Amino acid sequence: MSTFQAPKGTYDLIPPDSAKYLAVREAIAAPLKNSGYGYIETPGFENVELFSRGVGESTDIVSKEMYAFETKGGDKLALRPEGTASVLRAALEANLHKLGNLPVKLWYSGSYYRYERPQKGRYRHFSQVGAEAIGAEDPALDAELIILADQAYRSLGLSQFRILLNSLGDKECRPVYRDALQGFLRGLELDEDTRRRVEINPLRVLDDKRAVVQKQLVGAPLLRDYLCDACKAYHEEVRELLTGAGVAYQDDEKLVRGLDYYTRTTFEFVHDGLGSQSAVGGGGRYDGLSEMIGGPALPSVGWALGVDRTVLALEAEGIELELPATTSVFAVPLGEEARRVLFGLVTQLRRAGVATDFSYGGKGLKGAMKSANRSGARYALVAGERDLAEGVVQLKDMQSGEQSPVALDAVLDAVRERLA
Ligand code: ATP
Ligand code: MG
Repeated sequence: MSTFQAPKGTYDLIPPDSAKYLAVREAIAAPLKNSGYGYIETPGFENVELFSRGVGESTDIVSKEMYAFETKGGDKLALRPEGTASVLRAALEANLHKLGNLPVKLWYSGSYYRYERPQKGRYRHFSQVGAEAIGAEDPALDAELIILADQAYRSLGLSQFRILLNSLGDKECRPVYRDALQGFLRGLELDEDTRRRVEINPLRVLDDKRAVVQKQLVGAPLLRDYLCDACKAYHEEVRELLTGAGVAYQDDEKLVRGLDYYTRTTFEFVHDGLGSQSAVGGGGRYDGLSEMIGGPALPSVGWALGVDRTVLALEAEGIELELPATTSVFAVPLGEEARRVLFGLVTQLRRAGVATDFSYGGKGLKGAMKSANRSGARYALVAGERDLAEGVVQLKDMQSGEQSPVALDAVLDAVRERLA
């Protein structure tokens, strides 16, 4: 019988590497928890229409990458390809925006699904940590989110990343620009697919990674020249706040991002050690999204950082996270009686919060000490019949090899004292 493998484009997180992913999620979440963002969790699937309306029919995410399916009951659902539409849907459904406390600030962490061509840094199942600030139009909020993402990456020790920043304008000025860009693009020699994109979503053409396309885009009208005064002032304020916070960024005229719902501020975090899958995170302002999915006007801003690519970025910079050993104490019983007594001690230590593990499976001394070593434990508790007769266990320092008897009822204190 053949064994099963993880589906194409997916991979498993297994120890010890999986600890890195947890640490990365924790590091990204920490600045958010510290800045008024509350944790939200939404289902792994939604009505497909939420995404086709919210993310946009013309985006690659919806038109090519979405896992959409019909249930036995006839519901049309899709595995979530991104987090923002779901979080906003949930906030609206729970009326969080009516509690008189705007912006509603939320953070999330979870799995996302896109039917993509798998390659390094691009998977069909991946994970993101994200943040959304819903219901306020304030350049300080845009700046806050960028600053917090920057803080998260720096706390991981990352330094070879850059922040790309742009403004996409609003419903006043963007349509004017869209027309001008469309006029320009219609004059180029483009393949059929791209020509279609020119008609549906011309801004996305700027995002085309192919050199043949990029070459022709030289001289394309720039959004910067079309921004209305309000958008210009807003963008200028975001830039000043970032500069004031000591967060460096690069203006990137061509940064349009793949989702339809962005307005004004858009940004992307790119890492220079990742090759072609260089975006480790991105986000922006989405003032129109709430209305697009049937809610009231709720100007909002958010980002999502890719956990998988952040881990690759750590590897690219040669950063080893300092992960605390998972086990502090490892118990090695010699004989049946010792097994019972030590199992009791293990339970006591665990209840007291000491990370403790036990040699299972009736191993002999040699095999059990090997397990103790592998566990990374700082101390081993070893006991045989003679120790128990004396009412003690041996507490062994795994680093120095030193060993000393400790009375059974003094083990917790002795361990605590040494670990302190
Ligand atoms: P790309 O241009 O690389 O396709 P994107 O614009 O589609 O990225 P977003 O939708 O902005 O990505 O998602 C935010 C982050 O989630 C990305 O910066 C990336 O780190 C991560 N991400 C997106 N798609 C994938 C994927 N298929 N596999 C792994 N990570 C991904
Ligand atoms: Mg993509």
